[in-house]
Amino acid sequence: MVIVLKNNVAKKDIEELSNKIRSYGVDVKVTYGENCSILGLVGDTSVINQEHLEMDERVERVMRVQEPFKKANRKFHPDNSVIRIKDKLIGDGNAVVIAGPCSVESEDQIIEIAKKVKASGASFLRGGAYKPRTSPYSFQGLELQGLRFLKAASEATGLPVVTEIVSSRTLDLFLENVDVIQVGARNMQNFDLLKELGKVRKPILLKRGLSSTIEELLMSAEYIMAGGNEDVILCERGIRTFETYTRNTLDLSAIPVLKKLSHLPVIVDPSHATGHAWMVESLSKAAIACGADGLIIEVHNDPPHAKSDGKQSLTPEEFESAMGKLRKIAEADGRKL
Ligand code: PEP
Ligand code: MN
Repeated sequence: MVIVLKNNVAKKDIEELSNKIRSYGVDVKVTYGENCSILGLVGDTSVINQEHLEMDERVERVMRVQEPFKKANRKFHPDNSVIRIKDKLIGDGNAVVIAGPCSVESEDQIIEIAKKVKASGASFLRGGAYKPRTSPYSFQGLELQGLRFLKAASEATGLPVVTEIVSSRTLDLFLENVDVIQVGARNMQNFDLLKELGKVRKPILLKRGLSSTIEELLMSAEYIMAGGNEDVILCERGIRTFETYTRNTLDLSAIPVLKKLSHLPVIVDPSHATGHAWMVESLSKAAIACGADGLIIEVHNDPPHAKSDGKQSLTPEEFESAMGKLRKIAEADGRKL
């Protein structure tokens, strides 16, 4: 962190401020200028309250050099984090695919889809049981019954299950029935929920908020990790822009940026990013080519009659065909899918 002081601050005031900062365990190097002096802070500046410093009458400007996230930061953890879920790995250099419907609709539906996506090479089953819908009148999910159907599908196929939590009130049910807990875009900054997820030992798939920056996503990961749960998978799922043709705009640049800034695995959701089934294959290819550690794709046995997100869901046949092409892209990049 660099602190630029106002013009003509007296030497004794500079010393007093430097000593105050040193009392937090941070080293301070002072460069005295003719008019304006500069303090260079070295060490763990995450303990410093930037806003308080900016309000100090001696201070002109504060510039952060180090990112505000620590546990998620690649600087302090140069190797990629590899997350083990049952016999599967995410982040080991290969690419994984999580597939399944937006919502669990019945036991038969989820088991049928699970078998089909597994046969096409998916490693995880997705399916929403608690749905964060824009309208309170839309289908809200089968809730606990949905978690039980997911568990049955997991037992029938051996696929680990990924599903979204919307409230910490249901956390115990998730711990019992689910392999990876998804935090949806709408809850990315539900800090109370993130803190609760920090206390558990279950991998978390954290989706980027609709209008969140990359740094905000990493700060949300930090909330979970600061509590002790370091198994976080980041997910780019498109952000809001002025474009209305697609449901969101897939920020492909977030993949290399996140992988540069953080050691956590990064996956991409081309379904929610585009809102159109016909675009899912193209953007999946792009995401794998950009170095994503995996994809989460919506697949439905009967998209026109899906209870949610049918328009963006692939049929099992379309999924099978896309997987064949994605495997070739991954292979061209020296990876397996
Ligand atoms: C979902 O995965 O079904 C979902 C609601 O995603 P998002 O939180 O990215 O909108
Ligand atoms: Mn959905």
